[in-house]
Order: sequence, then structure tokens, then C-alpha cells
Amino acid sequence: MTETATRKASGELRLVDLVRTYDDFVAVDGIDLDVPPGSFFALLGPSGCGKTTTLRMVAGLETPTSGRIFLGPNDITNTRAHQRRVNTVFQSYALFPHLNIVDNVGFGLRQLKVANWKPKAMAALELVKLADRAKQKPRQLSGGMQQRVALARAIVNEPEILLLDEPLGALDLQLRREMQIELKRIQSEVGITFIHVTHDQEEAMTMADTIAVMRAGSIEQLGAPSDLYDRPATPFVANFLGQSNLLPFDLDGQTGGLVKAVAHGHTFLVRPDQLPSGRLTGLQLGIRPEKLRLVSSNDRTLVNRMDGIVSDVSFTGVATTYLVRMPWEQEITVTQPNDGSNRAKLGEQVTLGWDPHHSFVVGAD
Ligand code: ATP
Repeated sequence: MTETATRKASGELRLVDLVRTYDDFVAVDGIDLDVPPGSFFALLGPSGCGKTTTLRMVAGLETPTSGRIFLGPNDITNTRAHQRRVNTVFQSYALFPHLNIVDNVGFGLRQLKVANWKPKAMAALELVKLADRAKQKPRQLSGGMQQRVALARAIVNEPEILLLDEPLGALDLQLRREMQIELKRIQSEVGITFIHVTHDQEEAMTMADTIAVMRAGSIEQLGAPSDLYDRPATPFVANFLGQSNLLPFDLDGQTGGLVKAVAHGHTFLVRPDQLPSGRLTGLQLGIRPEKLRLVSSNDRTLVNRMDGIVSDVSFTGVATTYLVRMPWEQEITVTQPNDGSNRAKLGEQVTLGWDPHHSFVVGAD
């Protein structure tokens, strides 16, 4: 293990009612957040929702309008950026072209006159698997490698928190996927808290232990990726984290321990624990495309069923996605694995079935 890798989990961050306004515009609207030490945390949301502004306040590059920022027990709200044990990796790596790789990584340590800067820089390069490139210049490295050098440079002085602002945005898809796995490995080895800003839901779900979904300056929902995906609290979260079919419904009593949900004259069954507490209006039943099954019309295995006509078929390699038009004109998206079963043709009448355990319920946004 490298020197850096032996460190214990560090970097407990707490944001208390954090606000940032620009004139009348509220970019960050009173965020309360606890980020546990040593976690991989993602701030996920659409463009303009306030992710970068939040990150910049944590880095000390932006002053909060109000609210507090704590790093461990210390209130760092007014601490200057360079005095915070917080570093940032940006999309642009900004390496010095005339310095070799190890000198790039050790640059900050040399400025601070750290005596043993070179072994530290080499240890950081080992961590990102680039020790053998130490003597080369940045231009001799690929984009993905340069991004790893930027990462080594950001962790070499052992920050408590590493902020990553869309660091993979400039990479092509395959490299991006490789780097997602690499980043996760590096985070678990160094034990520093990583806070990763992205608008890419797949990226956030691949990497993070916990995701905060942001919308219009606020946190809409916080949780583990699978919790957010399986039990989104709002239609916004349901749609931002993948696709979902939403059917507005009215409650109509219970049967056999399940709740009756009436949508467009059809009765579907829902688990009572899926109902949001205290909300009895504006409810919508949500079903992910891959939780729906194309079944034969006389198949009674799945208690929830609805019939429609296939209006589109898209082959996507591992799966086929169907659009199925319901009698109430809604198009339901269904994804089926390409395993030889569950095929349907354009224009065919099909029955869609699902298990009550595989749906969720959201209130109105
Ligand atoms: P993106 O992914 O596009 O960067 P984001 O979620 O990171 O989006 P922010 O960059 O935090 O969003 O911006 C949030 C809002 O605050 C945006 O509407 C933006 O225009 C506004 N904003 C950010 N910085 C400033 C500024 N210096 N002056 C005025 N408005 C700003």
C-alpha cells in the first residue's frame, strides 16, 4: 500500500441552512446536509440547480449569503480557500506543459517547501497507476491519464475532502466508464471524502454511496442509489434517475393487505408501505420500464395487468424497448431483455404485467 493509502476515513462535512443569492436570484436555497467521513457522495441534478455553487462554497471559492459550513468540528465558513483541507478537481486538468508528471504532482508541495515531496508525489502517482510515466510530459499522456495526474495532484497534500466538479465531462464514453471505476477504487483506498458533482444519473449511481438529488437550489431527495431508484419521493426524482411510467390514481380501499389504486378505470394493487405518509391526493403510481413484463392475456401470475397496442419497437442490443399505447392514450415504456422471450411486434395488442413489489408511489411535484 502507498503512504496515502494507509490513511483512515476523514472529511466529515456539514452544511447548515446554506444560502447563496445573486441579486434577487436564489442559486442555493437553504441546504442542510451531512456528508459522512470517507464516503463517496454525489450532488446530482440538472444544469443550473446549484451544484457547482454549493461545491464552490465548500471549496471557499464562493462566499455564502448565509448559513454555515463545518469540516469535522470546525466552522470553516469564513476560512480562506487555501487554508481549508479541501481540494478540487475540475474538468480541465490545467497541468503545467513544461513540467514532467511527477513535478506537476509535486508542484504544490514544492511551493510549500515540503522536504520529502518526491516520494509523496510518487506515492500519489502509484495510486493512480501512473508511476511509470513520472518522467514524461503531459502532452505524452492521453486525456484520461492527464485527468488521473490532476487527481494525483489534488490528493498529494492529503486533503480531508476532494471536490470533483464534472471531472469526466471531457472524456469519451468508454474512458468515462473506466474512470468512474478508477475513481471509486481510488476513493476507497485513500478514504478521503469525495464529493462529486454531475448531471449524469448513471455516473452518480455507479460511483456514489449516497446521492443528493438537487433541484432549483434545494435538495429534493437524499439516499443510496438503489433507494432513490426504487423509492423516489417525487416525480422529478423518478424521472431524473432513469425512466418511469407514472399513472395518476385514486385510492379505493384495501384487499388482501394491498391498497386498491384506481387509474383510468382500472384497479391496480399497491403495497400500503409505498404510500407517502399523510398524502392522499395527487398520488401517482410509478413503474420502471424494466419492471413491466409482456405477458399473455390469460397469464394471471402478475396481479397487475393492463392492455395496449405496441406503437414503437427499438432494439438496443441487450434489450428491446417498446412503447405501448394505452386506451387512455398514454404511451407506456417497457424494456425487455433480448433473451428470446417476451417479443412483440409493432401494432400487436399486448398485456403488460407487474408485481406490486416492483412499483412505487409518488406525490405530485
Ligand atoms: P451546471 O451543471 O450547468 O454548472 P449547476 O447545477 O452547477 O449547473 P450552478 O453553476 O451552481 O448550477 O448555478 C446555479 C444558478 O446560479 C444558475 O442559474 C446560474 O446561472 C446562477 N449563477 C451561478 N453563478 C452566478 C454568478 N456569479 N452570478 C449570477 N448568477 C450565477
